[in-house]
Amino acid sequence: MAHQWRGVIREYAERLPVTEATTVITLGEGGTPLVHAQKLSELTGSQVYLKVEGMNPTGSFKDRGMTMAMTAAVEAGAKAVVCASTGNTSASAAAYATAAGLKCAVLVPEGKISMGKLSQAIAHGATLLQVDGNFDNCLDIARKLGESYPVFLVNSVNPARIQGQKTGAFEVVDSLGDAPDIHVLPVGNAGNISAYWKGYKEYSAPYESATAGTLPAVSTKTPAMWGFQAAGAAPFVAGHPITEPDTIATAIRIGNPASWDTAIAARDESGGLIEAVTDEEILDAHRWLSSKEGVFVEPGSAAGVAGLIKKHAAGEVPTGKTIVITVTGHGLKDPQWALRTADGSEVQPVKVPNDVVTVATELGLDAR
Ligand SMILES: *Cc1c(COP(=O)(O)O)cnc(C)c1O
Repeated sequence: MAHQWRGVIREYAERLPVTEATTVITLGEGGTPLVHAQKLSELTGSQVYLKVEGMNPTGSFKDRGMTMAMTAAVEAGAKAVVCASTGNTSASAAAYATAAGLKCAVLVPEGKISMGKLSQAIAHGATLLQVDGNFDNCLDIARKLGESYPVFLVNSVNPARIQGQKTGAFEVVDSLGDAPDIHVLPVGNAGNISAYWKGYKEYSAPYESATAGTLPAVSTKTPAMWGFQAAGAAPFVAGHPITEPDTIATAIRIGNPASWDTAIAARDESGGLIEAVTDEEILDAHRWLSSKEGVFVEPGSAAGVAGLIKKHAAGEVPTGKTIVITVTGHGLKDPQWALRTADGSEVQPVKVPNDVVTVATELGLDAR
């Protein structure tokens, strides 16, 4: 029988605040691959999987939340949406606003937005304003616009976003047959760690569905949540907001996370941790993923992998466990990092003449 993945709202409707009557705005998000990471598994002695969120319609996990937020915006009769963004939220908001027939305004911080993300927002026709300030300043303005002007806020402070993003945890459990022992992910504004924890909790106990009665528990346990921040933007590690966050991992360059309390709860209730990794460690993990696992992510997405490798080196990763790492966004978002070698120089293709013998020699091949 013909079946196409219907997007996270239709696939998990019984566990989301929607009804049969809801007009769903979707681009077919979710259903992303859970890839067995062979080399990370060998390294750690645990079974490590990558939840490859770059495979979403706009190339990041933000689409899971945006389908819910845009559906809520339409339900509320909104004509326009607004968001603050380090890049991926704007790309996602712009695409889903287009699908919904809504206007979209995007506030991005000065500098350090990747070309890939900027071009997506522009391609989808968003009105893009670059604010003289950082992400936290942009979010502040976006929240005030949502409060005092006729625009609908689609940042993850909107609870609809978290609802959509919790489906990432559902998919992991549905793929593995149970929850993993540890779930690792990058932490920026901290919506995603909050959302995964919500999803894992809801799947591990009977669930009172608004539309389908009491649903039985799907998993027998919940994982420890391990979050990793960039060292220059690590407010959870510092224990207070950071006023000048700085990291090459622009997606997690956030000093004052909106989902502070829920992230702390995710960490503590799950018996997990939130720690920091340096930009160097992030870029090493970025290279590990592309060169050893065959998975290309943007730098911020590699923070979780960097964290696992760091914890392993410290002897703090248990063996014989199941570990899932969310890699949050696609490598093509921010491709220039792949063209830098470990010593910081630029990779250039080797130029050769139009001649098979020279090409074979360059490749180190002997004729058969
Ligand atoms: C948004 C984003 C993050 C951070 O997620 P939070 O929910 O803000 O913690 C990490 N990686 C990528 C690629 C993102 O787009």
